[in-house]
Amino acid sequence: MSRFLNQCYQSLEAYTPGEQPRDMRYIKLNTNESPYPPAPSVVEAMTREQVELLRLYSDPTARTLKEKLAKLYDVEPENVFLSNGSDEVLNFAFMAFGGKEAVFPDISYGFYEVYGGLYGIDYEKIPLKADFSVDYRDYCGKGKLVVIANPNAPTGMSIPVWQIEQIVKSNPESVVLIDEAYVDFGGQTALPLIQKYDNLLVTRTFSKSRCLAGGRLGYAFADSRLIADLEKIKFSTNPYNINRLTLRLGEATVDAEDYYREKCREIIRTRNWTAEKLQELGFQVLPSQTNFLFAGTPKMDGMALYLELKNRGILVRHFGNPRIDRFNRITIGTPEQMAAFIDTVKEVLYEKL
Ligand SMILES: *Cc1c(COP(=O)(O)O)cnc(C)c1O
Repeated sequence: MSRFLNQCYQSLEAYTPGEQPRDMRYIKLNTNESPYPPAPSVVEAMTREQVELLRLYSDPTARTLKEKLAKLYDVEPENVFLSNGSDEVLNFAFMAFGGKEAVFPDISYGFYEVYGGLYGIDYEKIPLKADFSVDYRDYCGKGKLVVIANPNAPTGMSIPVWQIEQIVKSNPESVVLIDEAYVDFGGQTALPLIQKYDNLLVTRTFSKSRCLAGGRLGYAFADSRLIADLEKIKFSTNPYNINRLTLRLGEATVDAEDYYREKCREIIRTRNWTAEKLQELGFQVLPSQTNFLFAGTPKMDGMALYLELKNRGILVRHFGNPRIDRFNRITIGTPEQMAAFIDTVKEVLYEKL
């Protein structure tokens, strides 16, 4: 730290992203990326001409992509916000709607806490229940910015939309942010509720189900007035927040919806297979509605298993939190990758017995 950093940031704890090894030696099951490439039509959209057009700024209103998303999800373009990854819309939401207070689960996406710290927000962390589920009643009538990932990460578990509606309805004076980064893998979306409640913000990403993590593209749905607030923040920080190439790829991605639905079905099939195999090996596997599994075995500490797997060329994600130190988060890869993962887990366990 230099002696110039503003006082308010001196104790800030930044987010720690999952490892991104520079070599490809690993089977990479640690950051919930898709194991599949973007649709062929998306790859073809990246033409020489598109690269040459980089001399021009991107469209700060991102009108074309907004219209395509609005059409796909049956809302108006005024209900859509686009961001540089969904991390950016989370950032903007904490900035715009955090006021003095926020609340989220104790075990959830680590960035919520970071944004809370960044904006000096007094945040409350509510413990998940013993079975790692969210008790929606804990978030009713809080009168603070409520942030819930549904499905949640790293647990993979989700709550039904009627419970989300109770949370939204009981907090009419504050924003309820539902982070649907994983909704395409089997969760229930709260999207229709934006027609009825002006305090609901639903955020999504192209990073997981749409195979575009490196493109950095996120989006959100809400009442047009909430979207206008987010646009105000965006135009006060970085109007060209999404680069030209990513906008173009995003448009091609929305046009290839069928491809991505098929890939999601494939990942769900592989997830169910992997969960079954882990259970046969004695693992506790939380019920997942995402592209990852959260699993642990009484036979071995989560950190130890993470290290043994890493030594054998497989990366999963371990979290330091004592409440979940038995567990690892395992991204679902291709069927071949998951077969190799299961074989390696067996190897590790039998060696240890
Ligand atoms: C991955 C993830 C995000 C962020 O995704 P971006 O790559 O920034 O779009 C947001 N929320 C949750 C819960 C995530 O797991």
